[in-house]
Amino acid sequence: MADPTQGLVVRSTAGFVDVRIDGEVVQARMRGRLKNTPRTTDLCVIGDQVMVSRPDELSLVVVEVLPRASRFSRKQPGRGPRKEDVLVANLEQLMVTFCHGRPPLNRRLLDRFLLIAEHQRIQPVVVMNKSDLREPDDADWQKTYESVGYPVLAVSAATGAGMDELAGALLGKISAFVGPSGVGKSSLINRILPDLELKIASVSDHHGKGRHTTRVASLHSLPQGGFLADTPGIRELGTWALPIEHLDQCFPEFAVYRQQCAFRSCSHTHEPRCAVVDAVNAGDIDRERYESYVRLREEAGA
Ligand code: GDP
Ligand code: ZN
Repeated sequence: MADPTQGLVVRSTAGFVDVRIDGEVVQARMRGRLKNTPRTTDLCVIGDQVMVSRPDELSLVVVEVLPRASRFSRKQPGRGPRKEDVLVANLEQLMVTFCHGRPPLNRRLLDRFLLIAEHQRIQPVVVMNKSDLREPDDADWQKTYESVGYPVLAVSAATGAGMDELAGALLGKISAFVGPSGVGKSSLINRILPDLELKIASVSDHHGKGRHTTRVASLHSLPQGGFLADTPGIRELGTWALPIEHLDQCFPEFAVYRQQCAFRSCSHTHEPRCAVVDAVNAGDIDRERYESYVRLREEAGA
């Protein structure tokens, strides 16, 4: 092995990381000098590309963390310079998971997840699980999302329907499943990675104890290539802070109209000659999506 050699961080705990190099996972410690450098972001997280050196026969040391193409992160609330809490580096895809049946689809929450993905510049894919419970008139809203440019995959962890398509979407990328509790994320992940055996809650257990076992942030390698990121706190983005600025840019279907508003700083809520509102009234922008925009904007404190 060349020295230093490049690898992918697949597990990260204080001071130590598991690094995947040529398909093999090795443990390395962080070089002291790296740990002591002042920074506003996490030093090393899953998904990071690092350079690993072998100073002697017995030890492996991370000597450099390579620049990140993307950071899936949340800002820590509180005073002072806000430190960024990076959950996954170089994440490429967010599998935004909802379902037919229970819990019922909440469009506002779906738009909230999509907004977070857009804001972090990570491609979202909408995954609709429990297709075995689908009602015939369930599909209308999906066209809206597809026309915005969000793929919608119908799957069932129970019957296995759509799983090949889902596996295809995950191929060769670093992805993470997010979505509310009860939609079947654990069930889907267990189907994709049977060795992992995540705990599946029975419906009655949902508010019960024992559901949250401590998990360490890890990237699981997929049999066909690609990785699934799983880290405490990542699955339920529902409580994340929202961006206030540029919120309208996180709605891709507004893009062509935004430029045509009379006011450059148009918020698309109360201003005259707003091209976005005109497009909503003309039926060119989905009204529910626009409602989400207005609500999320209020919530962000605009
Ligand atoms: P999570 O909270 O998103 O991880 O959801 P779980 O994987 O724990 O699943 C929640 C409930 O939905 C469990 O009772 C599962 O058995 C059930 N479930 C998961 N996938 C499906 C599916 O495709 N069809 C049906 N009918 N039920 C499912
Ligand atoms: Zn406007």
